[in-house]
Amino acid sequence: MGEVTAVAWGASTHPGRRRKRNEDAFLAAPPLFAVADGMGGHAAGDVASQMAVDALAAATSDGQVTRVDLLEAIRTADTSIFERSAGEQEGMGTTLSGVALTGTSGRLVIFNVGDSRVYRLRDGLLAQLTHDHSVVQELIDDGTISESEAEGHPDRHVVTRSLGFGSGLEIDWWTADAHVGDRYLITSDGLPKELTIDETGEILSSRPDPQSAADQLVLRAVDAGGRDNVTVVILDLGADEATVGAPSSVDHTSLDDDTNPRPATVHELGGAR
Ligand code: MG
Repeated sequence: MGEVTAVAWGASTHPGRRRKRNEDAFLAAPPLFAVADGMGGHAAGDVASQMAVDALAAATSDGQVTRVDLLEAIRTADTSIFERSAGEQEGMGTTLSGVALTGTSGRLVIFNVGDSRVYRLRDGLLAQLTHDHSVVQELIDDGTISESEAEGHPDRHVVTRSLGFGSGLEIDWWTADAHVGDRYLITSDGLPKELTIDETGEILSSRPDPQSAADQLVLRAVDAGGRDNVTVVILDLGADEATVGAPSSVDHTSLDDDTNPRPATVHELGGAR
């Protein structure tokens, strides 16, 4: 398999066709890659999503981050957003999803709060790794509605977890092996609203350059309707010294358990949805 000695990445964002503001924010700087999708009136969503990614960025030191620091940064952001929300910007919050490179032993941490998503492309298989924290996902999980009924559901924008709510923050997080050749996609919900999993996988598979792939995904989502802000971060794990960046952080922390919510849903590209 080989050791991951270098990473390459790309990122792209667009307000879409229906919304004036872009309330998404992203971070694409080793060792952290993340997308936040803000919510709340009067520009509050912009503030909340930016606060979340800024808190993550502040958790790194010398280009390294530990799991403990990462999770602490997310909790700190949650508190900070809530406190600010209690003032002039009532009701603001944000999703946060991402991937953190933690350690030379080839492990990474995937984390999620809300309905932004992390996917992994490996050997032609595209897997959604995160599980949405949304009303619609809960209805799908308990069998009340089907995946296709979720599309037009009136509560499809309602998340059941977010940063800034004020109490009881639950973070989904777990570690995964870093494999050379893996491509990670982190995205706000503006992408899956517009593109099928096959369309997304086809673009990811056909564009080796991560910036080109990110730009194309966003372009296609906007072309397909652009009903929401759309933000994409792509992370490629490589062993090629020609690529940029190098995950070199060492994580000596230990935590009891993660919250890996369930096995990933794997989609074979070109197959039935
Ligand atoms: Mg959104």
